[in-house]
Amino acid sequence: MKISIYIFCIMLFIWFRGDIMKKKVSIFMFIDAFGWEIQKNHTFLEELLPYRYPAKMQFGYSCTAIPTILTGKTPVEHKHLSFYYYNPKESPFKMFKVLKFLPGFIFDRWRFRHLFSKAIKKMKGYTGYFELYAMPFDRLPYFDYIEKKDLFVPNGLAPTKNLADVLEEKKLNYHISNWRLTEDENIEALMSDIRKEELDFAFLYTAKLDGLLHSVTKDGSEIQAKLDWYAEKIKLLVAEVKKHYEDYSLFIMSDHGMTTLTHEVDVKKQIEDLGYKFGKDYVAAYDSTMVHFWFLNKECREPILKEAKKVPHSSLISEADKVRFGINYADNMYGDEILLMDAGTQIVPCDMGRNSLPGMHGFSPDHKDSDASFMGTEPLNTPPKWVGDFFRIMTEYMDK
Ligand SMILES: [Zn+2]
Repeated sequence: MKISIYIFCIMLFIWFRGDIMKKKVSIFMFIDAFGWEIQKNHTFLEELLPYRYPAKMQFGYSCTAIPTILTGKTPVEHKHLSFYYYNPKESPFKMFKVLKFLPGFIFDRWRFRHLFSKAIKKMKGYTGYFELYAMPFDRLPYFDYIEKKDLFVPNGLAPTKNLADVLEEKKLNYHISNWRLTEDENIEALMSDIRKEELDFAFLYTAKLDGLLHSVTKDGSEIQAKLDWYAEKIKLLVAEVKKHYEDYSLFIMSDHGMTTLTHEVDVKKQIEDLGYKFGKDYVAAYDSTMVHFWFLNKECREPILKEAKKVPHSSLISEADKVRFGINYADNMYGDEILLMDAGTQIVPCDMGRNSLPGMHGFSPDHKDSDASFMGTEPLNTPPKWVGDFFRIMTEYMDK
């Protein structure tokens, strides 16, 4: 008699527990720079995530790829390519016309620029990632800055719909990491939401691997240790999910890989030695791997392009490739022409920094080191070809 009551109580508990347990949660984790070549050459959760696919990088940087992943759209649609674009009329940096007279030995220091960036961000009410980098103060008034808003929250990429907009529309219970927090804090925040047993969908953001790859390259011995750290955290996360949900899907994605430094080229000097006046004849923004040119005096176009073609380890992006990469802006928002360095070659110095880094991304998506990766607990009917496809996969899983 006692045994039958005991069995009945257990069955009642299982039935009751099954009733209150959330049926399924879909978790998508973003690991910045965890490219295909990096995952291929390291060990990482092979048993848990056996389904693995390479995906073409979005041309540009993380500031391009993340909007693409969050919307499924190309840069020409969501407008984000580099941080700076030519727009003197609406530049938020007009005050820098005065600041350019301040002594460079203080105001060019990274620490000062970082603190100054924080002050500007607060003053202007920007909620996005904002950093002045090494952009010369006297050039800032020619530019506007694209990432003024937090990309991850509803309306973050308006008028383009982002991940949060779609989740809101579908009235799902979701968790999206706060990119300002540390990796540990973000993992703990997700754990805490998992324990509430209310989640339908989660997007976990982590970005420390990118910084590590920039400093030790994809072949650094530190990379496996960092991947092991992620693996341990993911195992704990999955154990927690299993306690609180009947079923789950887990996918890991990245935005690009990392290419080891092979050459440095001083493109800035080469162009400036021509003697044309910046802001009057032309404007140029020097990213780590590409130069954006705007020609104000049409007569300067050909001589500058002639010189650009002489820059070692580089080539001008053709109109056909602009279309292929989704950067064919009708208004040439990010340059009348773009000079792209060959994979491994960095522009030194550039507006992003004075020195090269051991590893860099932002080269051609055609180079194998640029490839992003996507891996999961289950196979996909239509595997991703390009990082923008991650958005389609995420929206498909919202309805599962
Ligand atoms: Zn990076």
